[in-house]
This record gives sequence, C-alpha cells and structure tokens, in this order.
Amino acid sequence: MDNLFSVENKSVVITGGAGVLCSQMALALAQAGAKVCILDLKIKAARSLCNRINSDGFTAIAKKTNLLKKEQIQDALKMIINKFGSIDVLINGAGGNKKEATVSKDKTFFDIDARALQQIIDLNLLGTLLPCQVFGKQMAKQQSGIIVNISSMNAFRPLTNIAAYSAAKAAVSNFTQWLAVYMAMNFSESIRVNAIAPGFFLTEQNRYLLTNEKSGKLTDRGKRIIEHTPMARFGRPDELIGTLLWLISDASKFVTGTVVPVDGGFNAFSGV
Ligand code: NAD
Repeated sequence: MDNLFSVENKSVVITGGAGVLCSQMALALAQAGAKVCILDLKIKAARSLCNRINSDGFTAIAKKTNLLKKEQIQDALKMIINKFGSIDVLINGAGGNKKEATVSKDKTFFDIDARALQQIIDLNLLGTLLPCQVFGKQMAKQQSGIIVNISSMNAFRPLTNIAAYSAAKAAVSNFTQWLAVYMAMNFSESIRVNAIAPGFFLTEQNRYLLTNEKSGKLTDRGKRIIEHTPMARFGRPDELIGTLLWLISDASKFVTGTVVPVDGGFNAFSGV
C-alpha cells in the first residue's frame, strides 16, 4: 500500500512541459522522484525549469522538439532511452487555442482562416497522435507504459467561439479511448491510456478571453464560467497533480480509456 502512488525512478516525458500547467507537473513529478524529460518549442523556458529541478537535487532534461515533426520526436526518444533507459510515462500536454481561430465581434466563424483552423487541429490532435506513435511503439516493445493525454471541458460540450479547439479536444478524448483499447488488446494490460480534462485555469492562452486586458477584471465570458463552476473559482495548476499521480501510478492499475474532469464541478452542473 505504501507504494501505491509512487512514481520514484519512473522515466516521464512531458510534451509542452515548459507551459503553465505542464511545468507544474514536471516540477511535482521530479520532486516525487521521477526522471523528467521536457519536450517543448520554448527551449529556454524548458532549460531554466530543468536547472531549477536539477539544482534542487532532482532529475530533469529538456530537448527542443516540434511535436508536429515525427523525426524530431524520434530523436527525442533516442535521447531519453540513452539517458534514462526506458519510457515509463508520456504526458501529452502541448496544446491550446489562438485568437486567430476564435470567433469574435470582428470575425464570424465563416471568416476564420483555414490555416488558423488547421494549426489548432494539428497542435491539439496531431501533436498528441504523433508522440503516441513514437513513444507508444517503444511502450509496446517494453510491454509497459502509461499515457496521459490532456483534453478539455470543450470535449464534453463545446464552448462558444472556439470551434476548432473544441473539435480537436473532443477528438483527443475519443482517441484516448481508442488507444487504450488498442494497447490493451494488442500489446499488454500494463499499457494504459487515460486523459485529464482540466476545467478553467487562468493561463496565457485563455487570459484574453476570461479577463479584460487593461483592467484585469473578468470578461462576461469569465463571469459566466465562474457562475457555472459550483466551486465558484478558476483552478490552480497544482490542483491537477493529485489526479496525475493517480493516473500514472499503480493506484489506477485497472483504469484505462477514461477522461477525468478536474474542474470544480463545471461538467456536472446543468446551470440550474
Ligand atoms: P501553455 O500554452 O502554457 O503550454 C503549452 C506548451 O506547449 C507551451 O510551452 C508551448 O511552447 C508548447 N508547444 C506548443 N506548440 C508546440 C509544438 N508544436 N511543439 C512543441 N511544443 C509546443 O498551455 P497551458 O494552459 O499550460 O495548457 C496545457 C494543456 O492543457 C493544453 O493541451 C491545453 O489545451 C490544456 N488545457 C488548458 C486549460 C486551461 O485552462 N489553461 C484548460 C483545459 C485544457
């Protein structure tokens, strides 16, 4: 029972690990004894996080990787196997939305540029599929491994204005179930695939939608979200860690193909 939630010595890859939510995950997992590898385009931020982790006596490495380029992910796999010997956990954290792909006062859905739609679908969906191909193949070889994808509230019911992001995250939830079945039926019951669906956390990619840029006060959309969150607040990044530890440890040994909301009750609330 003592080791139920242990991640000690596990080799963990975190895509988008330099970002707001996943940097907290990298920090917490390293502090819990995991060996962490951060893959991100923002290599300066990734390296400075690694320095912080390593100077505290824990283990982290980083590699600049574009998750939409399979060869770059394959290079990252080689580096991790070389340094850590195996891949025990993959967290697919890279994802997000952009202003250019968002309906606004000045732009209807019909006017959104195809390239903006494509970018959001690629980042969220392809950016999850490709690492699952590369690291999943290694897990199949090892006959063990755990994958955690990051979905969203949009996957259950789409939010207004962000059609491509909603569709892409719904696809991530669907793919999580697909891959869970594929891995368990074709390779090993020790390969599990689940997702976390965070509720609303105030970060750089949604700040412009939830708060007024000048005053910092909540926008109407921000207010509506708080009104529809029974806990009546945004989440804090560290509040994802408990669910993550559960999903990547033996504590969830018989759990695969699930999407777990961490949302202050948002998904359960009908609004009435
Ligand atoms: P963030 O923008 O802070 O982090 C995303 C990271 O991904 C960045 O460091 C970025 O450099 C990296 N990245 C983007 N494209 C990349 C690419 N092609 N290759 C490599 N790295 C790339 O985002 P966040 O708010 O921390 O969100 C993390 C995840 O959680 C995302 O999947 C997001 O969609 C999801 N999510 C966030 C919220 C929220 O409230 N913030 C809610 C639900 C889901």
